[in-house]
Amino acid sequence: MQEKNWVLRKLPAVDIVLNSKKIKELEGLYPKEIIADTIREVIERERQKILKWEGKMEEELDDKRILDNIVMNVIIWVEKKFKPSLKRVVNATGTVLHTNLGRSILPASIREHLYSIISGYSSLEYDIDKGERGSRYSHVEPILCSLTGAEGAMVVNNNAGAVLLVLSAIASGKEVIISRGQLVEIGGSFRIPEVLAQSGAKLIEVGTTNKTYLRDYEEKINENTGALLKVHTSNYAICGFTSAVKSEELVFLGQKYDIPVIEDLGSGTLIDLSKYGLSPEPTVQQSIKAGIDVVTFSGDKLLGGPQGGIIVGKRKYIDRIKKHPLTRALRVDKMTLGALEYVLKLYVDESKALKEIPTLKMLTLSPEKISERANELYKAIKERLGKRVKTDIIETYSIVGGGAFPVDKLPSKGVSVSIPGLSVCDLEKRLRLNEIPIITRIEKDLLILDVRSIQHGEVEIIADALMSIVDSITGDNN
Ligand SMILES: *Cc1c(COP(=O)(O)O)cnc(C)c1O
Repeated sequence: MQEKNWVLRKLPAVDIVLNSKKIKELEGLYPKEIIADTIREVIERERQKILKWEGKMEEELDDKRILDNIVMNVIIWVEKKFKPSLKRVVNATGTVLHTNLGRSILPASIREHLYSIISGYSSLEYDIDKGERGSRYSHVEPILCSLTGAEGAMVVNNNAGAVLLVLSAIASGKEVIISRGQLVEIGGSFRIPEVLAQSGAKLIEVGTTNKTYLRDYEEKINENTGALLKVHTSNYAICGFTSAVKSEELVFLGQKYDIPVIEDLGSGTLIDLSKYGLSPEPTVQQSIKAGIDVVTFSGDKLLGGPQGGIIVGKRKYIDRIKKHPLTRALRVDKMTLGALEYVLKLYVDESKALKEIPTLKMLTLSPEKISERANELYKAIKERLGKRVKTDIIETYSIVGGGAFPVDKLPSKGVSVSIPGLSVCDLEKRLRLNEIPIITRIEKDLLILDVRSIQHGEVEIIADALMSIVDSITGDNN
């Protein structure tokens, strides 16, 4: 403790830091109070660090080094206070729907349209033809109905909210029957049994994990049954000796007893992606055609739009859902509606959707395009860095992510990079801490940039980052 007191006394006073040259320069850029507050915070953090430190204290702690270190930290922290922490990153992981990196990204062509909506007043809840109040859902309902074949549609903040709302509006206080094979956990503590409990409905499990028959549902139907629920097992697959009830059969049962059938499709695609080499997934149109009363799905998974929970189905249920108090609590913003309407209208022409919606484009990239991109990245790195890095084009697999297509591995190509004198973990970290962070993958002790999820123009960002990493190492060694 003696030793610690000695070190603590070496921490400079706030005034000393304030009067140092670099901090004086900072005063031209940022308010003085913010700088002074930050100095106090940094000194306090240093003090805590010393108090917690258990090893031996460094002996040659000179006052100048301590002061320089504090000044450097003050500059970093003051800048942090003014710069957004939510920022653009380069996704070189190959995972297309990367939940941690923002799932779907929007088409570049949306920029002007979206900006005009959010930077000015808009027709959000205003019927321009009639000159009177309108509904915010009117911008997406007609297009959702025409794309899916549903009678009605609406949108809330995300699919988790959509499921909660639908169950609350339709089955609160009643029993909801679901197969044991579909008691899904999505992640982020979204578990179907818990959502059901939250909605006020009572969960009635039927069947077994691998097999559920129509008669299992029918046996549990009584006057308290509020709905039959089907949940898409998005993020896992049950294979082998299995049996699940078809949507049509469930609908038949629902109609026989006048009980609504609800389906949570999870990723909810509007295009049959098996045409492009992915496993067959049910489309939203198929569920509606099968007669499901209410279908919910995400806006930012396979649809490729903004975060949102889309609800489509029979008019009478959609009307009831719209009137439920939770609807107001889960209400979407104009940014979401503007982006969603724009993306949905690209679907009017399937080929346009595949070309312009980044999620679909990345998932359906041809092997030739992937090779082209890998060559482009490889060449850019080689051109800048020549022999200063070791790089190669390798075969790899991307995954869809976002809890969609859990068993699909998409053949892809990656560019591996290693820098002499830098461990693979250090390289990963330095790329991650780049001004525009570059998120990569380490596979078998090799750093890989999977080209599937790298966007147009990002090749330069990657090459520049590698260049400055190599330069800094060479600098360190000099
Ligand atoms: C992803 C998913 C959800 C949650 O959707 P969010 O849009 O992330 O809220 C709910 N149910 C299923 C089956 C899912 O796959």
